Amino acid sequence: MNCLNCLRPGPPLVRGRCNACYLYLYRAGKERPVELIERRCECGQPARHLMQIKVGSGGRRWQLKRETLELCEDCYQYEREVA
Ligand SMILES: [Zn+2]
Ligand SMILES: [Zn+2]
Repeated sequence: MNCLNCLRPGPPLVRGRCNACYLYLYRAGKERPVELIERRCECGQPARHLMQIKVGSGGRRWQLKRETLELCEDCYQYEREVA
């Protein structure tokens, strides 16, 4: 599971959020702004999703490696359609 707000991988998570995001929410009463967190999709929009993909040449399973993409809403929808 990743933090619902900043997408940082957990655990530990509190109510689906990492410690920093949860504390911000608790103190400020609103979600921690993700713009502060420097996650950008390749297209330049703020990344909202993490997606695990396998890259490598087909046929040789042991050469596949996992990579994590940071995707904005639009690109995430696109990746899900083509995946
Ligand atoms: Zn977070
Ligand atoms: Zn994008």
